Amino acid sequence: YKYFISTKVVMLGESSVGKSSLVQQFMLNRFMPGFQEPTVSPHFVKKIQTIYKLGQQKVQFNIWDTAGQEKYRCLTTMYFRDANVAIIVYDVTNKQSLECVDYWVDEVNRSNANDYFIVLVGNKCDLRKFRQVTMEEGQAKAKQIGAQIYYECSASNEKSVQNLFQEIGIYLYKL
Ligand code: GDP
Ligand code: MG
Repeated sequence: YKYFISTKVVMLGESSVGKSSLVQQFMLNRFMPGFQEPTVSPHFVKKIQTIYKLGQQKVQFNIWDTAGQEKYRCLTTMYFRDANVAIIVYDVTNKQSLECVDYWVDEVNRSNANDYFIVLVGNKCDLRKFRQVTMEEGQAKAKQIGAQIYYECSASNEKSVQNLFQEIGIYLYKL
């Protein structure tokens, strides 16, 4: 009977889609518009989270986020190594960020020999007026890349981000 899982999660996707904002919302329950992190190298945060639907089971999420290297397509192999979960984020107000999802799938396949699964996340759902990607298009992309979980959320909405990690936790216990 498993009650604790430790998992390496890598945040992927184009620059400015909201990867760091999602991590910040998950870790600190906080959204700071326009926030830019000052770090120069990829960084790693961890959080032990109870998965409520399962009862006492917990997941330690070891989350790797970039410091902007994705902009120059220069994430190292170390970043991907031994990842169990790849969260690939696109911005629902930026169609091009959805098209770039394929690049990130190729990168993680190339650099990670581990068993892992993909979570495709459409972020910035709060910006309804500016939406360029429908949920159907997101779902179709998820199917095409073989993502196990497809999810739409907003880093500004605490509940939607907490639910994302709950879904991932439930999936990890099903594996
Ligand atoms: P990253 O480059 O993928 O890490 O993206 P950031 O987390 O740095 O976010 C880029 C910009 O988009 C920042 O100005 C954020 O405040 C903003 N942002 C991120 N997520 C959301 C969201 O869900 N809704 C809105 N309205 N803005 C967001
Ligand atoms: Mg970032």
